[in-house]
Amino acid sequence: MAVRGFQPWADELAALQTDNFEVHPEQCVRVRHRQARCTRCADFCPTGAIQIGTALKVVPLRCAQCGLCLAACPTGVFGPKRPGDADIMAGLERAAQRSEQVVFACSLLLRKHRRMRSHPGLVELDCLGRLHESLLVGAVAAGARDVVLSDGLCERCTYEVGRKLANDRVATTRTLLDALGMEAAVRFSEQALPGMPALQDRGTERAAASATGPAGSWSRGQADGPRRCPRLCGI
Ligand code: SF4
Ligand code: SF4
Repeated sequence: MAVRGFQPWADELAALQTDNFEVHPEQCVRVRHRQARCTRCADFCPTGAIQIGTALKVVPLRCAQCGLCLAACPTGVFGPKRPGDADIMAGLERAAQRSEQVVFACSLLLRKHRRMRSHPGLVELDCLGRLHESLLVGAVAAGARDVVLSDGLCERCTYEVGRKLANDRVATTRTLLDALGMEAAVRFSEQALPGMPALQDRGTERAAASATGPAGSWSRGQADGPRRCPRLCGI
């Protein structure tokens, strides 16, 4: 329940609510506690849909429903529904049944490196930053012994901030696995597939893929031009 006097903040957050994106403003610490100074959702929102300065400003049309705010918020305010955590968990459980190596990769990377789709343990996401500890531990609980986050393009992506978020989640997951006595590797990899060269060294494959990619998609050839998000949100 919103605290009297903080209702404007809650109302602003609620503006992000859509049929595909749940928001629970009453769970925001800044709605519940006058002295709270949390800014994590704004810090990790790659599109500027959430901005926190002297006040909170929400721009719903800028929301790409990437889910990074879900992973960043410590109090569970946000909940993208497609895919929701249950969808991702179901996908990673199927992947873990097929392979002891579960590989998380974003849609952009998979468009550039289509052979990755042949990996039996592949799980596709909008962004690696969408992952959080319960999903990563869930992959190990489902049977994965090697959980790989493919980050070959992250440093050039508009969603680069998602890589930082995922890095924190991987560190915490390793601590949790140690505490739980569960043995498995949880790591980043720049390889498209096990045994392949790092993605940065695959200039030919990347150039060929970008030449046939949609207008506005990221490619090495655009390095000097404006960086545009390759996703449909058109950022
Ligand atoms: S879903 Fe992504 S774009 Fe939308 S508010 Fe959350 S972090 Fe920002
Ligand atoms: S990250 Fe969550 S708790 Fe923090 S300000 Fe944003 S909505 Fe509120």
